[in-house]
Amino acid sequence: MNAEQLENMGKMYESMGLSRELLDYSKKIADSLKPRFDAIDEIAEYNQMKVIAAMQKNRVSAEHLYGTTGYGYNDAGRETLEAVYADIFHTEDALVRPQITCGTHALNVALAANLRPGDELMSPVGKPYDTMDEIIGIRPSKGSLAEYGITYAQADLKPDGSFDYDAIKAAINERTKLVTIQRSKGYAQRPTLSVERIGELIAFIKSVKPDVICMVDNCYGEFVQTIEPSDVGADLIVGSLIKNPGGGLAPCGGYIAGKKEYVEQAAYRLTSPGLGKEVGATLGVNQSFFQGLFMAPVVTAGALKGAIFAANLYERLGFKVIPNGSEPRFDIIQAIELGSAEGLIAFCKGIQAAAPVDSYVTPEPWDMPGYDSEVIMAAGAFVQGSSIELSADGPLREPYSVFFQGGLTWYHAKLGIMMSLQKMIDAGVVTLR
Ligand SMILES: *Cc1c(COP(=O)(O)O)cnc(C)c1O
Repeated sequence: MNAEQLENMGKMYESMGLSRELLDYSKKIADSLKPRFDAIDEIAEYNQMKVIAAMQKNRVSAEHLYGTTGYGYNDAGRETLEAVYADIFHTEDALVRPQITCGTHALNVALAANLRPGDELMSPVGKPYDTMDEIIGIRPSKGSLAEYGITYAQADLKPDGSFDYDAIKAAINERTKLVTIQRSKGYAQRPTLSVERIGELIAFIKSVKPDVICMVDNCYGEFVQTIEPSDVGADLIVGSLIKNPGGGLAPCGGYIAGKKEYVEQAAYRLTSPGLGKEVGATLGVNQSFFQGLFMAPVVTAGALKGAIFAANLYERLGFKVIPNGSEPRFDIIQAIELGSAEGLIAFCKGIQAAAPVDSYVTPEPWDMPGYDSEVIMAAGAFVQGSSIELSADGPLREPYSVFFQGGLTWYHAKLGIMMSLQKMIDAGVVTLR
């Protein structure tokens, strides 16, 4: 851009309340990240080729973009989409459905479908994501696996984040049927696992018990690397379409991909014994599922750049950021310890103020069911609850950490993060040094 255009862009930012000082500081940070962003773009290019190749191989055509109604028999679009997912993930089969309501549901279907009374489920990476507590029955819950006589065992990671192989071996017994491995740290205080590390873990588990089913909760990890857990031995991978693989366009849905027999079990559980994959109308979602998947590598790259930008922006101001500004990334989540309620509230206000939808709304802390302190959330999304779109939340308690993720474009993520810092400056909780 020429000097005049750059000046006009600066004015647009200023009209949103961003100071020159903050814009200059942000530019310095963003410029310093260019080599890293180039590497992210290369991964996006690689994954974009994977997606296009899979679509071409399966001869995606205009008719596949239309859906079915009623029973949804012979839905060519749905069947082709599932074949495309299977090709991208290098799995035998995949179930990709709008009837899978969210990531938690996808995980529940995969687990409940492949476990039987008397079997044991095992996590070798510590306690799984919060919503899994009630699926498993860690917190007593109606319809949990525990109610069906399926037990649960766990091996925690070592304090340094490494696998506790002795504990894992000790936790595997003749009843261990399925091992669940969570790729992303989610909102826990442990490192996110690289696909390579997941591969090492699966190899070890299979050496102890070759016939155990290894399932990976792939939420927030898709397309962050060039390989997926299914490339390193996972028998099943599971995720949500309102995160990475939906590319921001899928309005709902989830996927389960892996070995044919396990995916088939999941289909019979999702619909009904006897029906399996044969039913499930797609109504009007096929186009957004295909197009979202097509966009997903680039969208994920944008979210990743936003997370890295934020880590560096805040780290240099003295905040603790997890992951830190320079370590490699294996998911799109960023945590920042803001240290005060005012800081956390101001941060979320900034994210909200940058949104394309509901930007005029002011987020307020509230008593959310299931939490022991107030929670504040910011989201101005096209798809409700979508966390591949820029969103932030955090509980109002020490150390006042905000967790944020997403951004359908890098430029939007950047704006949101700059706004978050500006709101904190305006609230007097931080100054630029
Ligand atoms: C988001 C998430 C889930 C649950 O997904 P929902 O769509 O919120 O139900 C499970 N595991 C991990 C690691 C996640 O990030």
